[in-house]
Amino acid sequence: MTNLAQTPLSERLRSLVDTVQHNERTLRRFQNVELRLIGAQDFASFLDTLFTQLPREFSLTGVTLWLDDRAPMLRELLEPAALRALDQSKLLVSREGGLAAQGLCDEGRPWLGNLHGMGDSARRAFFGAGLTPASAIVLPLAAGDTVSGYLCLGSDDPARFAEGMATDILERFASIVTASLDNVAHRERLKQLGMTDSLTGLANRRYFDERMREEIMRACRYGVPVACLFIDIDSFKRINDTYGHQTGDRALAAVAACVRQQVRLGDTVARYGGEEFAALLQGDRADALTVAERVRLAVERLALQDDHGERIVLTVSIGVAARTISGTPAEAAKLGGAMMEEADRAMYQAKRNGRNRIEALVKAGDVETAR
Ligand code: GH3
Ligand code: MG
Ligand code: MG
Repeated sequence: MTNLAQTPLSERLRSLVDTVQHNERTLRRFQNVELRLIGAQDFASFLDTLFTQLPREFSLTGVTLWLDDRAPMLRELLEPAALRALDQSKLLVSREGGLAAQGLCDEGRPWLGNLHGMGDSARRAFFGAGLTPASAIVLPLAAGDTVSGYLCLGSDDPARFAEGMATDILERFASIVTASLDNVAHRERLKQLGMTDSLTGLANRRYFDERMREEIMRACRYGVPVACLFIDIDSFKRINDTYGHQTGDRALAAVAACVRQQVRLGDTVARYGGEEFAALLQGDRADALTVAERVRLAVERLALQDDHGERIVLTVSIGVAARTISGTPAEAAKLGGAMMEEADRAMYQAKRNGRNRIEALVKAGDVETAR
């Protein structure tokens, strides 16, 4: 091959590599924002991620969010008094805003283009009288057929959002915003109902027991397995004695956040007692053992430090139990109770067998062995 023939090819390759690297960077930036959204403990930090971090990461001139204050989960979140307390001009709830966005997003599809094409009412709703961006995209926040809001991203660059552009990455992002909003609304509701633990931000035992009943009925109706984990911090008394109660509190919060990170958004994690956590998972025993091992390892690797910068080593012992639930509601409830009790006993077995380990009890007739 001659040099002449090689040049265009290497140029094409370079441009291809550039594109791949650019896409990778974009995805990574999205991932950073998404992790913050998923981890948001309250509505205010959820909004802050959308209105501050998102425009910064992607050089956007305006991000606005319209939410439907009639949506069941959002109703309390968006009460006038709550909105006043938030004082967020980029959060919109006016009926006109919703209608304008609905008009743009045909059949729940995103709308994108330059601001002239947006129409007066939508432009006014999303950007008010202030400086308007040159182009924008309006993304419906939808779960199934239900639209709970619209997210609008604006750019100074007229070519940034143009008709016919691929929107798959942004649509995926919108679905994560939707799930996170649901999660945050749920959290805020638990706070209002006094069902969260203030030290760790996790649900408390009262909430866990209630969710447990609902989850058992659901598992019974659909014939799917449920599992639970009992997680107890090892020798925690010693942590308090060595580093003081305040550092002990910090350690508790760190372990709580760590456990939360290892399970799915829809799974329930609660602070069940002083230094005990319980998790309710959708899945069978093998799934639960996998999650338990992930939790055990993550806690062991926690980089927690005392006041002098010295690393504090923490470990947990975990008991696992799972059931496929069937029968009448009364029978199902009994099976659920038995599962919890079994996980508790398995946890004590893990303590007896040396701590920092996972146990599942072996029942008569079980072919599996505990590990
Ligand atoms: P084991 O490995 O057998 O579980 O030992 P342990 O020391 O963790 O268990 P034990 O039940 O003897 O002690 C639990 C300790 O957890 C005692 C209690 O002071 C501490 N604890 C419970 N709740 C809190 C809390 O909110 N903050 C702090 N700092 N400590 C707490
Ligand atoms: Mg304990
Ligand atoms: Mg303990």
